[in-house]
Amino acid sequence: MEQSYITNHLGEDRQQYFDAIAPPIIQSSNFAFHSVAHMRDKLKDEMNYPLYTRGCNPTVAILRKKIAALASGEDALVLSSGSAAVSAAVTAQVKQGDHVICVARPYSWTNKLLDKTLHRFGVNTTYIDGTDIAHFQQAILPNTTLIFLESPNSLTFELQDIEAVVQLAKANNITTIMDNSYASPIFQKPLEMGIDMTVHSATKYFAGHSDLVAGVIIGSHTHIRKIFEGAYMTFGATISPHDAWLMLRSLRTLPIRMQHIADNTEKIVRHLKQHPKVEHLYYPFDKDNPQYALAKKQMKRAPGLFSILLKANEITEVERFVDALQLFHLAVSWGGYESLVFPLCVLQTSENYSFTDRPFNLIRFSVGLDTPEELIKDLDRAFAQIAV
Ligand SMILES: *Cc1c(COP(=O)(O)O)cnc(C)c1O
Repeated sequence: MEQSYITNHLGEDRQQYFDAIAPPIIQSSNFAFHSVAHMRDKLKDEMNYPLYTRGCNPTVAILRKKIAALASGEDALVLSSGSAAVSAAVTAQVKQGDHVICVARPYSWTNKLLDKTLHRFGVNTTYIDGTDIAHFQQAILPNTTLIFLESPNSLTFELQDIEAVVQLAKANNITTIMDNSYASPIFQKPLEMGIDMTVHSATKYFAGHSDLVAGVIIGSHTHIRKIFEGAYMTFGATISPHDAWLMLRSLRTLPIRMQHIADNTEKIVRHLKQHPKVEHLYYPFDKDNPQYALAKKQMKRAPGLFSILLKANEITEVERFVDALQLFHLAVSWGGYESLVFPLCVLQTSENYSFTDRPFNLIRFSVGLDTPEELIKDLDRAFAQIAV
């Protein structure tokens, strides 16, 4: 389906709401029926008929259709956070005694879901370096039921060879779930490459304005219904109709935001790449990235998230550099219109520099819609603050 048709038209049935151009926010928890027979009929499919908003709400239903189509899936669920989406999708796939293979260093709360929560219910996880398909092969056990991918991850951007993992998973009857928050369906469509389900933090590029928290799961009718009937309805991490409406509005500009952010980022990355104060660049589309060819094969473009190692001898130099930035806000998260910086040294205290095993000079940036030339000036001003 054509992309602008999806974002501008799909799922919008204006005759249902006074021919309004903008869809309404149906801010109602509950829906009434004309007769017992009518209610009985609608009760058969709580996922697709508005009965109660935890299951189905008309504003959220429009969003579900658009997101499923954007990602080339049959159906989608929208939840109140990306973590809720990961938790519901993963929990639906595993039972006591199952084994999960997960890429090393996934999003931190995905890691905690597997190690802290699901481990208590007898689900064990092996973490592997996903850059080599042999590691997946070696990790498979007779009770492996799920492979969880994140390609690329959101800090140092290691990729997995999606086609190779899919082939291996299918041969061993293993379900695959991939966190595709980084690329978004605009730049990468894992379902077209055979992945069973994708999950996203919709807080990031989908919503794009740093004003709401949401998550999505996309897959086949069968997978999505299974999740709906289990974790989605029982955990009840419902998105509010108002937040769903904000996300519908965001989707109108998702394709152009992604292209513009990618353009801006290319300019900034080019500047940083040749900068004497940059020791290393982590960016999938960097030509020196050992996985550059794979990135080109799997992703249309790279969006606004990248990291550097700052050439610094001490943590105080990193602090001076980051504190001098004016246009980049110092914050967690990413994917909004604004530009952000997140230095890993915030996770370290002066008493304990080894709180993480990440280098103290690793700094992640999220480029938004600021003028790239202004962002470059801001970076250069900050570079000038640190000793040569
Ligand atoms: C932010 C993030 C999540 C979690 O999403 P929330 O919307 O914050 O719950 C999951 N995966 C990745 C890669 C993320 O960056």
